[in-house]
Amino acid sequence: MPKPAGTPSIFMLCETCYWCATYFDKTKVVEKCPKCLAGMLSSFPIMPDEAFIFSCDAKRGVELDFTRRK
Ligand SMILES: [Zn+2]
Repeated sequence: MPKPAGTPSIFMLCETCYWCATYFDKTKVVEKCPKCLAGMLSSFPIMPDEAFIFSCDAKRGVELDFTRRK
């Protein structure tokens, strides 16, 4: 799906069950986790020139590595 240039995407992460999703339209962002229905969602804006690696590890928890897209 094409998205408008210059619009940050929103990455949503549930702090309870680690459900996550990326939204390209912030008006469609959910307020509650659709999986566990908890209200503990973290959101991170992702700029169009950024990329990130999401990893979830039982020992270290959730890790997000942001990098500049080349
Ligand atoms: Zn959840």
